[in-house]
Amino acid sequence: MVQHDLSATGGERASAVRTCVGCRQRTLAAELLRVVARESESSGFAVVPDPRRRLSGRGAWLHPTPECLGLAVRRRAFGRALRVTGHPDTAALDQLVGSTEQ
Ligand SMILES: [Zn+2]
Repeated sequence: MVQHDLSATGGERASAVRTCVGCRQRTLAAELLRVVARESESSGFAVVPDPRRRLSGRGAWLHPTPECLGLAVRRRAFGRALRVTGHPDTAALDQLVGSTEQ
């Protein structure tokens, strides 16, 4: 059994670190956009931004940039991170970050 050194984790809440599902870099959560999966009739599910971090369900974290969004889509990282299958509809994210691919 591993004993965590509590003194080393002080202030963790204020500087929470998350992994971007696009570039896989670990970054302060404050610099990442939280996204969640919503069921969608047309394509199975849609990935929608949750800037206020209040939506329920499993979330993923992403740099709000076209590069990281593109990486996440190509690597099918949303399906893995959000535990959903099928091709995600990321139109809402495309709009938010300004996709470079049309
Ligand atoms: Zn990233």
